[in-house]
Amino acid sequence: MAIRAPNPLAGKGGRLMDDPCLRRRAATVGRLDGLGGLLVMTAENRRYLTGFTGSWGAVLLTPAETVLLTDSRYVEQAATEAPGCRVLRHGAEWSQTLGETVTGMGLHRLGFEKENVTVGLYEKLSAALPGTELVPTEGRVEAGRAIKDDGELQSIRSAAALTDQVLTEALELIRPGMIESELALALELGLRRNGAEVAFEIIVASGPRSSLPHGRPSDRVLAAGDLVTIDMGARVNGYHSDLTRTFALGKPDSRQEEIYQVVREAQTAALAGMKPGMTGREADALARDIINARGFGEYFGHGLGHGVGLAVHEGPRVSLTGETALREGNVVTVEPGIYIPGWGGVRIEDLVVLRPTGVEMLSSFTRELVVL
Ligand code: ZN
Ligand code: ZN
Repeated sequence: MAIRAPNPLAGKGGRLMDDPCLRRRAATVGRLDGLGGLLVMTAENRRYLTGFTGSWGAVLLTPAETVLLTDSRYVEQAATEAPGCRVLRHGAEWSQTLGETVTGMGLHRLGFEKENVTVGLYEKLSAALPGTELVPTEGRVEAGRAIKDDGELQSIRSAAALTDQVLTEALELIRPGMIESELALALELGLRRNGAEVAFEIIVASGPRSSLPHGRPSDRVLAAGDLVTIDMGARVNGYHSDLTRTFALGKPDSRQEEIYQVVREAQTAALAGMKPGMTGREADALARDIINARGFGEYFGHGLGHGVGLAVHEGPRVSLTGETALREGNVVTVEPGIYIPGWGGVRIEDLVVLRPTGVEMLSSFTRELVVL
């Protein structure tokens, strides 16, 4: 990962080694593959490459320099957050400023992020850059994002630890008579009180509603005998955590107990067997084979997991369509589930980082069935 040769991206004083954004830009430049530059407009990629956290901006990454184009709301912030970039304030029509900049830099082949460019945006870019060949690209920045550096891991670790803590504290509150949305609010307050942001809308799904893998908290009142699934995460320095537990309200019946143990066993097998080099599909199979063998295969409709970082869902894929190999430094969820319509569901989700020979857990909440 270390880049020792002189690099124009290093800027004054050769700060390349201390600034993660400089390192990331150098690595992405290494993936330009003959392009003169790459236009980056996806919020997470923009932040990853420059440190800029504003809601609007276009990054023009080239081997010679990085330009960050934004509007009057953000120029001051951009200059502070992205010190190694040339910050440009655009006029009323940003694409015109972009066109002038690209022409000024003499770029003839410019890559764009095809997964995130709409037809409308493509038309605008084509009109603004008549002399430039626009080349669709995929994953040039994401390839770097999938491997977390120490600073990124630290933020994810903090987010995961905080999520464990807030969920643990909330166990005191969960009892029959409580409303799902009331519980979600308490969890949200817990995250915010501890200085984190809420990673995504917290899922609370109880009783028969727990068969909804992404059930939004409703006004349903928790009742004895329910399974209650909570899926939540914190955001720290822009980085997310993602944790799910299913609890039993009162002593579980034999079917609840059985299904929980199948999910638990599937997750344990995946956590024990996952390692760098296997594809996401092979990792998925570690858990899916067990759920299939126990006859619940049709009720496990989603993938085993997903990458987590600046986005809650990012690469690598850990699912039936995960064809790329897992790599050391990937941060992924391991979240098998069984959802039976009309009955309910169970999911156990943990966050791990891939190490040379296996996984290291980032979440630490007990994986045993907690009876409340
Ligand atoms: Zn989740
Ligand atoms: Zn997840």
